[in-house]
Amino acid sequence: MNKDWLEKDFYATLGVSKDASSDELKKKYRTLARENHPDKNPGDAKAEARFKEVSEAYDVLSDPAKRKEYDEARALFAGGGFAGGGFPGGGGAGGYGGSQYNVNVEDLFGDSGGFGDFLGGLFNRGGGGGRSRQPRRGQDLESELTLSFDDSLDGVTVPLRLSSDAPCSVCKGTGAKAGTVPRVCPTCDGTGQTSRNAGGFAFAEPCPSCRGRGLFVDDPCPSCRGSGRGTSTRTVQARIPAGVKDGSRIRLKGKGAPGENGGPNGDLFVVVHVSGHPVFGRKANNVTITVPVTFSEAALGAQIAVPTPRGGSVTVKIPAGTSNGRTFRVRGKGIRGKDGKNGDLLVTVEVAVPQNMSDEAREALQAYADATGEEDPRKDLSAMAGGSRG
Ligand SMILES: [Zn+2]
Ligand SMILES: [Zn+2]
Repeated sequence: MNKDWLEKDFYATLGVSKDASSDELKKKYRTLARENHPDKNPGDAKAEARFKEVSEAYDVLSDPAKRKEYDEARALFAGGGFAGGGFPGGGGAGGYGGSQYNVNVEDLFGDSGGFGDFLGGLFNRGGGGGRSRQPRRGQDLESELTLSFDDSLDGVTVPLRLSSDAPCSVCKGTGAKAGTVPRVCPTCDGTGQTSRNAGGFAFAEPCPSCRGRGLFVDDPCPSCRGSGRGTSTRTVQARIPAGVKDGSRIRLKGKGAPGENGGPNGDLFVVVHVSGHPVFGRKANNVTITVPVTFSEAALGAQIAVPTPRGGSVTVKIPAGTSNGRTFRVRGKGIRGKDGKNGDLLVTVEVAVPQNMSDEAREALQAYADATGEEDPRKDLSAMAGGSRG
């Protein structure tokens, strides 16, 4: 028997039911093969892989002899030999056992769609009726990433490596050494449970021979020591939209764990952290910056160069008599909004007071004070404060 067949659902690959006619198979195959043909999708590895899958599935299912063999192999391992009646306590206990194992299977192989699917089928028979043959949505996953301030402005596509529990890649999750397959555990008949009698009640407990797997491996896979468990890593291209805020949780539809039996993929949630910037800040869709200007520049007016978020700089005209803290707006240099329009760069000037003046500078400033005959700038203030006293 072809071991690969155990973990491949050729019907799901072609999106047809198990009793599909050969005409139906042919039609589906042609559509999918045309869609994914390498000539039509040059350089698209995904399409190429899909094309191969589809071709392989059709190769087996279009040949009546191979199809029969495939169906039989799948039926044998998907629970044909062990209907769930083996439990003491009848249907109720069987149902309970079934759903309990479901949880285990999902924990171990939740992301796979491969051997998890196979095991799911195995145990679901006990719980009543091949539920796992139905399409099942993949799990939602969560990941985290940190973006630079610059990348947060216009959005960016980040490759995210996701690792999850998956079937062992060497034995494809069967736990059996290459070239062998596990057999149904003879102790528990594949149910994964044995019963113990205590005070007239029957308790189900995990089968000691197979540790609850329902399968018995004669020749364990050296890579996973027979557990069938491994880790899979895949890279997802996560599109982070422009203007993402620190701490946002972004939902990437369909980028979670793959669905099973043709079910939809789960979603991937990405919590995004945005690094602070030494110069720029953020206010809604505007980028902020504080720029020092000298007293003379503020008083006399100046053209100053201000760095902009995406590199380069703009010239901002500071009019004569600009007061400290005044903000100027440079249009379109901010964050890209949902409407495709950019926010602005808000430039706030901060008048720098000279700290270490040379004698020459001090004399010049004194001369300035004398020349302007600086009167007391707080004169009105004292008058107003005095006036309100009554
Ligand atoms: Zn293995
Ligand atoms: Zn067992």
